[in-house]
Amino acid sequence: MSDPFARAAAAGIHRLAIPTPFAVGRVNVYLIEDDPLTLFDAGPNSGTSFDELQRGLESLGHALEDIELLVLTHQHIDHLGLVGLVASRSGAEVAALDAAVPFVERFTEEAQADDDFARDLMLRHGIPEDVVSALQAVSSAFRAWGARADVTRVLHHGDRLQLRDRALDVFHRPGHSPTDTVFLDAERRILIAADHLLAQISSNPLITRPRDGSIGRPRALMTYLDSLRATHEMEVELVLPGHGDPITDHRALIDERFRMHRRRAEKLHGLIEERPRSAYELAQALWGNIAVTQAYLTLSEVLGHTDILLDEGRAREVEDSGVVRFDAVA
Ligand SMILES: [Zn+2]
Repeated sequence: MSDPFARAAAAGIHRLAIPTPFAVGRVNVYLIEDDPLTLFDAGPNSGTSFDELQRGLESLGHALEDIELLVLTHQHIDHLGLVGLVASRSGAEVAALDAAVPFVERFTEEAQADDDFARDLMLRHGIPEDVVSALQAVSSAFRAWGARADVTRVLHHGDRLQLRDRALDVFHRPGHSPTDTVFLDAERRILIAADHLLAQISSNPLITRPRDGSIGRPRALMTYLDSLRATHEMEVELVLPGHGDPITDHRALIDERFRMHRRRAEKLHGLIEERPRSAYELAQALWGNIAVTQAYLTLSEVLGHTDILLDEGRAREVEDSGVVRFDAVA
């Protein structure tokens, strides 16, 4: 069996699959053997993950202390958690997109503010109080897998990260999170994309608290679809994702994602044509009884699609006693 990451390895990019406690399974971090020796993401903050990261680096002939540059792809804790520890052990620079810096540097406070935002959003969209409280307890327990880090090198959309043997162009691709960043090696046509595009599962367009002071609910799925359109245009032969196997035909995969989201929006439209429903009721109609840990993911997914219908003028929001229901517009 051929190694799906062989082509990346031939370009000096090595995938290490680091364990996480989350449903998504292992997270891919990438070591680029170049000058500086560069690691993209680090894994969640746990002893097991740290041990495996160290062993993985050693199997490639490097010590953790040799890492000189750590690059963060986005703010999620399965990617971010170990960044601070690896940086303090190695003295590596930490590079992250400008939009991610406040979150990374003030992780605990920011994560708490995100949870408060999520709580209000869940209640407003019909998720029962006991489910919301249970999920908040899970979320604060999970916070231990994240940790703050100092960003020493701030990246901007359009920047170029120059290593000795390659240049990586930096692009902001918000949607899955507000800070998703992809890195393009235009010469080799390789894109380090993290969770912006995954082969086996569609990236969840998580609704995340806006940090720019804007009010109202961010339209995460619509933002994400715009980002996918931009990536569709890129000349790329190999996409290295944050979970699972690499992608060799990004345009076909993105087209498939567009079709899936269109189908789902139409399905929701059918459901609200029957009668007005809250996002929680729509999630139940789509997926049945949802595990508590999945409540926010499925809410984000549903609201992403109702946003499309609202944008097209085919749905409207009706608020009653603080709970929003979606109604079809004839
Ligand atoms: Zn993520």
